[in-house]
Parts: sequence; structure tokens; C-alpha cells
Amino acid sequence: MTVGRLWPDRVDGTLPILRLGYPCVRRPLTFCSVLLVLLFTAACGRAPSNDGTANWLMYGRTDEDHRFSPLNQINEHTVAKLGLAWSRELGTTRGLEATPLVKDGIIYTTASWSVVHAIDGKTGAILWTYDPKVPRERALFYCCDAISRGVALYQGKIYVATLDGRLIALDERTGAMIWIVNTTDTEKPYSITSAPRIARGMVVIGNAGSEYGVRGYVSAYDAGTGKMAWRFYTVPGDPSLGFESGAMEAAAKTWKGEYWKTGGGGTAWEGIVYDPALDLLYFGTGNPTAWYRAIRGGGDNLYTACIVAVHASTGQLAWYFQTTPGDNWDYDATQPLVQADLRINGVSRKVIMQANKNGFFYVLDRKTGAFISGAPYVKGVTWATGLDGKGRPLEAPGVAEMKPSISSPGFDGAHNWNPMAYSPRTGLVYFPAKTGTRALHAPDAAWKYNPNNVNLGFDAKYDGPLGAEMDNLPPASGALLGWDPVRQKEVWNVKSPTVEGGGVLVANSLVFQGRADGVLAAYRATDGKELWNFDAGTGIMAPPVTYLVDGIQYVSVMVGWGGGPGLINPPGTGPVKPGFGRIISFRLDGVARLKAPLFAHKNPPQPAIRTTASPQVAHEGELLYEFNCSPCHGVNAVAGALPDLRYSSKEVVDSFEEVVMAGSRAERGMPSFNKLLNARQVRAIRAYILSRAQESSPGLPSR
Ligand code: CA
Repeated sequence: MTVGRLWPDRVDGTLPILRLGYPCVRRPLTFCSVLLVLLFTAACGRAPSNDGTANWLMYGRTDEDHRFSPLNQINEHTVAKLGLAWSRELGTTRGLEATPLVKDGIIYTTASWSVVHAIDGKTGAILWTYDPKVPRERALFYCCDAISRGVALYQGKIYVATLDGRLIALDERTGAMIWIVNTTDTEKPYSITSAPRIARGMVVIGNAGSEYGVRGYVSAYDAGTGKMAWRFYTVPGDPSLGFESGAMEAAAKTWKGEYWKTGGGGTAWEGIVYDPALDLLYFGTGNPTAWYRAIRGGGDNLYTACIVAVHASTGQLAWYFQTTPGDNWDYDATQPLVQADLRINGVSRKVIMQANKNGFFYVLDRKTGAFISGAPYVKGVTWATGLDGKGRPLEAPGVAEMKPSISSPGFDGAHNWNPMAYSPRTGLVYFPAKTGTRALHAPDAAWKYNPNNVNLGFDAKYDGPLGAEMDNLPPASGALLGWDPVRQKEVWNVKSPTVEGGGVLVANSLVFQGRADGVLAAYRATDGKELWNFDAGTGIMAPPVTYLVDGIQYVSVMVGWGGGPGLINPPGTGPVKPGFGRIISFRLDGVARLKAPLFAHKNPPQPAIRTTASPQVAHEGELLYEFNCSPCHGVNAVAGALPDLRYSSKEVVDSFEEVVMAGSRAERGMPSFNKLLNARQVRAIRAYILSRAQESSPGLPSR
């Protein structure tokens, strides 16, 4: 039987919300709504801030995406007195990545499956919840956990983009839906994980799915009505149907073969910012499909792995800068984009900055896209030896060929979606970086497009000598960097006990960041000295925010471990802490206690039955498991945030085929694999999982 894990019957990790004294959830149109209006009236009467600093109204607080707040009640002299003000369970054990927005003391945020919560910023009480009922059976197409990075807020409406591609406007006061549009073709494996952004009275949203094979684009919708204003495709479509624009016609010249049959990729799944003065909207784009250049036939594959600027009024291309031409390593350019005015060589430049997955930190002129500077921000970047005068990478010899190799940074990048922050006072940017990450780069020459699965072109059956070499590499490590973008130089770094560090906030003179081991810490912005920390009980990926209610400053963060690295759970990631998702808030002299129930299997697994399968069958199951199952249930069948299958109950083991093939647990987020696996293969996977349980159980002989 399953041991140790709390609420083991909830396969998707979703838990009932612990409603502590607030009965109005999901009943906005009842008597409770009257109460809500009263509550909101009271909330709106709270010490408003005319200078806007009390609130956190957009993803990066301001258009520049600095994630810098001038609030100064919590500072390097007072931070020692920072204590928990409140915490609120959000009914999930999956990853939480959202940036909470705060307006007049009310927090608006998202939890797993794109569920939106409005929360009292002073008490943590849930004011309303909107559940868009994301179809769990589509979970196969949500590559990196059922996550959402938050909402947008504009003129009394809250905007959320759902995992299954819908864009929804809600009434800020009640959570009632005002309009809804489908932004993607639901027949295709699109998903959305990013928070919508606001530009020129429009709601802007991209999508994800380059790992599966879709055509990426960014769309803008009228914020009042939901009517689409424009759409910018990031890759060209089928030439026989005509190109939408000159930009698409030009891009098509950089592709080979029948590229449109896979969709092309280039999805803009995060990193969108707007400059109202230049009226330019900036976003990053993801990898081309499939991952490997040789499989695609070569070419730069515009506008994948690019930083793109479009005119916000029309959606027409203004400029692009390709960070990884002809990407071969999954180096999406979707990391946060931060705008600043920097003095470079004595001249004030309007720049846009990014710590790219590919290991280079870029500073570009944001009017023209011209390359200003770029430098590696981690040691051990092996795929390129540097950048040329225009910022194009100088690829290391041999690494792009169709032969297995080990390359760095790994597929997850040296820095990913986790928000970075910029302090105009120190002139530094702060972001989590992963060093020493290496990836087995094994293209599959026999790869064929499969519309029902991921289309990486990765050789999942690679069993060569590099596997052992990978096992012997030094472990990856993580650090929080204070980086000078003018000198392109590290000013300080704080080594982390975990590879994965969360998003960053600069609260005046303090840098706040959470980590995978559940610790939220505050560092002095000038030199990285740690001044305060708190054990939140569960790993943190999301960025903290800060706000003021009734004259009191709070720091809040979503706490929830998962996401891509959390589910894949590769060995050597440090003391990560899966657990119960919540939002927590701190204030000076806060005295609340965190109720953090244990979340772990206490004892080694005891296999429900002994497998009689041969080692050959278990090995076949291992290869199938690593390709099909490990993205959610963990490498080597050791899970992170989702169920650890070594602990499967006899009931699950007995019904394994039904679960995997018939989708009997689809409603809980375990989709059917009947288009990807046959019954014999499922039995082999089951044999592998049982053999792993046996190996992990002291006293039982291994297979
Ligand atoms: Ca990607």
C-alpha cells in the first residue's frame, strides 16, 4: 500500500482547499457577494497610495519589469524583525510560479490548473476563487507541470490565460467572468503558462508547445471586449497558403524542407514587456521543432530563439535579435526581459537585457535591437566559445553535428523563466543561475514527427558510453547572482544548497529570493550578505512581491515545488522540498506560525507485488519509462512533486494498464497513453517500476 504521503488518493496532487473560516469560495452570486462588496468597499478605503508604490499592479511591478520596489519599511536595519503575517493553503501540491498582483490591499494570483484567487493582503482570507476547469485529460500537452505565472489587471478586470489556451476576463470585485476567447486551436498541443500582459489597452498573450510541434504566435485582444486586434506569428507557415507578411516571407528563407508540417515552434511562452514611450512590445521565442538542427535540415530558423520587438499598435515586426541561430540545444529566449536606461561608454542607452538559457547575458538597444554587449554569466559554457561583434554566437567545433555529445548549459538552461530583478540604485541585476549543468545531446536520426507526443528528436534509447560519462560529471550547482550589466561582470554570488533558485524581488536595499529547499532569504543588494531567512516548508520557485496595506509593508510569495525540474527530479538537485502549495506573507513583528504538514514518504517503498519479468523486459521498461513517464514521475522512477510510482498500491499495480491505457485517472491529471504505448510496453514499464521498488527496499533482492 501507499505509505507516508498525505492524501494519497489525489493522483494529480490537487488537494481540497483548507477553507479556514471563509465560506464564500465559488459562490460569488449569493448572499456572500453582498458581503464581498462590503469587504471590497472597506478594502478600497484603506490608505491608498497615490504614488503607486503601495501596489504591485503588473507582472514586473512596472513596465520596465524591474521588480524593484522603493518601499522601505523592511530594510537592512529592520529585516531581522521580519516575521510571518499569515499563510494560506491553496489546495495543491504542484508547482506554483505566479507573481501575485496587489491592488489596494487585495492580492490576485493563480495556483495550479490556472485557478485564480483573490486574497485579502492583510489577513490571507480568500475573497473569491475562479476555477476555469482546465481539462485534466490534456495533461500530456502541459510539458512542465500544471503551472500558471499569474494574471494581468486593468481597469477593473483580471485577465487569466488558461493552460488549455483560453483567455478570460473576470470582474475584479467578484471573479465573475466577463468575456472568454479561445486563443489556440484546441486540436493542437498548445498550452499557456504565462501571465497575460497589458499594452495600449490590449491584453497580450503568447503560448507554449514547441516541444510538441506547434506554430508559435503572440496575440493582442481588446481589453474591454476580447476582440482580437492582431497576431504576430513567430515562424512562417505553409508557403502554398501565402505568407501573412513580409516578415514571414523573409523568415521562410531561413528554413529547410517542409518545416511547416511540425508547426515550426518558436513559441513565446514567457518574457513579454512593453515600452509605452517607444510603443514597442518585446517578447522572447522558444526553440524550433524538433530540437536538433541536423534533423530540421539547417538554417537559422527565424524567428525562433529570438528577442523580438513588434509595434504594439499593429503587431508588425520592428526588429529581432536571434540569440541562438539554428538552435540545437533547446535554448529558448523566453527568459525575463528587463528594460533600463544605462550609461554605456558615457552615453545613455535605452536597453533591454536578458540572462538567456544559452548562458550569455545580453544587453541590446531596445529602439533598434542593435547588440551592445554579451558575456557568459556562468562558467563552463561549452556550446559556444563567445559572441562576434554583432552578438552572433561562435559555436564550438563539432558540437552541432549529428552525433551524441555532452553540452552545457543543459536543456533547462543556465537561467530559465524565473524572474530577475534590477535595482536602479545599485545598477545590478539579480537572477538565479545554474552552473555545471550538462546535457546528453543525442539526436535521433530516425526521428519521425508524431502529432500525439513530444517531438524533440532526442534519442531516448541512447545507451552508449556517454551515459556513464554523464553519471560521473560533477554535480550541477545553483547560485544567486548580482550582475553588473554595464561591465558584464559578476559583482557577487551566493551559492545555493539547491540547483534551482526562485524568482527575485528587490525591495529597496534588499534582494529577496526563495529556493527549492523551501528557504526564503533576504540579501543586502550591494554585496549579497544574507540578513534574514525563513523555512517555508515547501520549495519555492515563484518571485516574491511587496506591497503596503494600512501603512504596513508586506512581502508575499507563492510557495510550491514542481515545474519542469521539480517533476523530472534529476539526481543531484539538492535537498528539494515537495509539499503543500500556499501563499505566505511577512511583515515586521509578524508572529504567525506556519502550519506545514510533512509531505514525504517516510519509509522505503515496499513493492505491492514481486515482478517476475526478466531483466531484459525491465530494461525495455526503463527506456520507455524515461521517455514517457519521467517528465512527470521523475528520473529513475524517483518522483518529485507528483506520485512516486515505486510506492504504488496493489490497487494501482493491478489496474496499471487501465490507468495508463484507458485513462481511468484522467480526471486527476493522469492522461491516457493509448496513442503512444501498447499493452506489452505498459507491462514492461510496470515491471521496471516494480523492480525499482524492489531495488529501493532493503532486504529484498534486486532484479
Ligand atoms: Ca523549449
